[in-house]
Order: sequence, then C-alpha cells, then structure tokens
Amino acid sequence: SFYIAPRFLNKLAIHITKNFLDLSNVRVPLILGIHGHKGEGKSFQCELVFQRMGIEAVHMSAGELESPDAGDPSRLVRLRYREAAEIIRKRGRMAVLIINDIDAGAGRVDGGTQYTVNTQLVNATLMNIADNPTNVQLPGSYDEEPLPRVPIIVTGNDFGTLYAPLVRDGRMEKFYWEPNRDDRLKIAQGIFETDGLSSSDVEQLVNHFDGQSIDFFGALRSRIYDEQVLAFIQSIGFDQVGAKLVNAKEKVNFQKPNFNLNHLIEEGELMVIEQGRLHELRLASAYNR
Ligand code: ADP
Repeated sequence: SFYIAPRFLNKLAIHITKNFLDLSNVRVPLILGIHGHKGEGKSFQCELVFQRMGIEAVHMSAGELESPDAGDPSRLVRLRYREAAEIIRKRGRMAVLIINDIDAGAGRVDGGTQYTVNTQLVNATLMNIADNPTNVQLPGSYDEEPLPRVPIIVTGNDFGTLYAPLVRDGRMEKFYWEPNRDDRLKIAQGIFETDGLSSSDVEQLVNHFDGQSIDFFGALRSRIYDEQVLAFIQSIGFDQVGAKLVNAKEKVNFQKPNFNLNHLIEEGELMVIEQGRLHELRLASAYNR
C-alpha cells in the first residue's frame, strides 16, 4: 500500500481535528495551506490521509475557478463549502474542502482581466469564509441556521503570489512540504511494492534519480507497462482496440512486466532525456520571443 509520510499525516490530522474540536480560547485557522514543489505528493497524500481518517473531501481546482464558463467563482467556492457542511450535518461524517493548485488560478494576476477579477473574488471569498466559517451564504438566499465549520485545505507551489491578507497566520496555517531522503525512499518503496524489487534496488533507483520529484517514480512505473501495452495493441490490431476495451465484459490481463533495476534505470534515463528536450524548447521559445 502507499506510504504517507508521518509528518504529513500528523500535520493534516491535527489541522482537521482541531477544526472539529471545540478548544476554549484557542483560535484555530480554518485553512491549511500546503506549499512546495510540484509533483512531490501534496494532493496525493491528502487523499491518502482522507481515506485513512474516513473523511469526505469536496474538491475544487483552480482551473475550475478561473474558467470563464464557471460563472461566478465566489459563488462556486461558497456552494462547495456548503456541500461539505451538508455532509457533516446530514451524514454525521467529517468533511473538508480541498482546493488544489490554488496559486495556478487565484495567484495568477498576469493572465488578463478575467483572471484578475476571478483572483480577487476567490481570495476575498476565502478570507471571508475563514473569518465567518459558520455563516457562508449563497447570493440571493439566506440560511438562518449556522453551518458546521468545514476545514479548508489548499495546495500550491508558491504562496508568495497569493493575496497577503489571506495567507496571514490567523486565517491560514502554512505547511511547506518537501520529502526528505527517508520519505522519498519509503514512498518509492510503496510505489514499487508489488513489483518484486528489493529494498536495495529501490534505494539504488532513488539514488540514481536523485533530483527527481516523486511523480517521476510513479510515471516510471507506468511507463514500464508500455511495451506490453504495445504488444497487446499489435496482437489484436490497431483498429480493434476500441471494440475490445470500451464497455468490455472481461478485463484484459497482463503479465507482470520486467521490473528489474537495470530496465528501470534505462527507461528512467529516457524520461530524463524528454525532460531535457522540454527544457530546451522552453529556453528556445523564451529566446525567440
Ligand atoms: P503535488 O500535489 O505535490 O504537485 P501530487 O500529489 O500530484 O503532487 O503527486 C504526483 C504523483 O506522485 C502522484 O500522482 C503519484 O503518482 C505520486 N505520488 C505522490 N506521493 C505518493 C505517495 N505517498 N505514494 C505513492 N505515490 C505518490
């Protein structure tokens, strides 16, 4: 099974629990902001913690908030918050609201007027909710009954780009997530758990790809299946893939691919080359601008 870093588990569990406790004379920030480099497991581990604690999560993404079709983003945030509150009230279960990659939308103030307007609305709405968590109203209706508090979790890359009053300590608890070597080893061990690698293999793999984020190892594992998937496509015919897979009655079974260390390192190196190409193209396009 997947590994949750204890620091991560504890931080999240404390934040959520504190928001459901009634600690006298203690002011608890409603929002937990988890920041750090992309692909290091912020969202993924949140889901693992929710499962572990039996928490229902209502999700939003920043992309959804900044979409011009989404309508009023402030209304959307309030709506989802109230959805989570309903789960707590009606079903008697813990629920949270999670907004992933918040700085991709709410923090981007350079993307044109639409984004700027939405940014300000989302920031202001979250601030407002953080200050009055039991009174979150939808425009055009008023609900007398106070809502249960719903802890909010936001993830992002760089909170320096968010509106400063939102990030203030009373409103948002901050948690910088950067897996250390031990976390990385144990997470990678979890990823390759069923693949017959020894712990020394995993260690060598993590050492070899030292600077890579956690998602590299997940993607590498998936890539190892490519050869078999191609063999499968060729065996049934490119034109038969749809008929065979969509609404299929029986599942296609694959043999375990070759997960030996050398093969993993070879495939990983190919991924690193792709990263390099992407990087070069970016540099070139920045230069040509
Ligand atoms: P972030 O939110 O920090 O950008 P994600 O949570 O999206 O990163 O993680 C990226 C990918 O890394 C996930 O989709 C998953 O494949 C892998 N991953 C991250 N953390 C773990 C973990 N604890 N165990 C297994 N895989 C993980």
